[in-house]
Amino acid sequence: MPNNFALIPAAGYGARMGNQLPKQYLTLAGQPMIYHAIRTFCESSQIKRVFIVLSPQDPEWKKYDWSAFSDKLSVFHCGGETRAESVLNGLNAAAGRFAIESSDWILVHDAARPLLTQSQLGQLIDELADDAVGGLLAVPVADTLKRSGPNARVLQTEPRENLWQAQTPQMFRYEMLLQALNNVAELSITDDASAIEAMGYHPKLVHNKSDNFKITYPQDLALAELIMQQRNQP
Ligand code: C5P
Repeated sequence: MPNNFALIPAAGYGARMGNQLPKQYLTLAGQPMIYHAIRTFCESSQIKRVFIVLSPQDPEWKKYDWSAFSDKLSVFHCGGETRAESVLNGLNAAAGRFAIESSDWILVHDAARPLLTQSQLGQLIDELADDAVGGLLAVPVADTLKRSGPNARVLQTEPRENLWQAQTPQMFRYEMLLQALNNVAELSITDDASAIEAMGYHPKLVHNKSDNFKITYPQDLALAELIMQQRNQP
């Protein structure tokens, strides 16, 4: 049976939050945002280890107590210029420390998606366990989509049929993901599935709920706080 490893790239600055502190460390439900995703992965019996990729200059990580997760957590200070570079560097660092087989699964998850639930994670793993390629959690697009031209004027309306919003985790075999990310090292891709697609594969979209959204703008953090409060109510 292949093992499942989680990898959380957390070397970004989160410029769109307009905050000095990188967004993965903004406080959510009394903890740094990244804590919540780490907990979900560490508490899953289906996940063997959790790799965190930080910027080499990260000054924040050591300010917090991570001892509750020490039996599964490995931290690497090898983040790169882009998300893809951070994931690639993390894979290489992890393979240098642990025995990872080519067919083992790597679940890459954004540090800024704190609302992933245990059941969403389990559903992704179960649906893809026998898949040849792998895939990702995703939500069918609900809004009407406009493509803009100059001056924020609508150029055209895009049909939303068959359009999905990609979420994370994105789950691929170690060897395939490594090869895919090495191939696209020069391109600016925003998720791991794009690298797999560039090799001609078709990742599976696993239908998820929209509550696993990425914290990008300040108002997202307030909404996440509300959802967490609601989930924690008896
Ligand atoms: O910026 P964005 O929200 O798309 O980042 C998605 C994830 O990738 C975040 O967890 C962020 O910390 C990570 N990232 C990274 N290295 C970079 C850029 C982003 O690990 N150079």
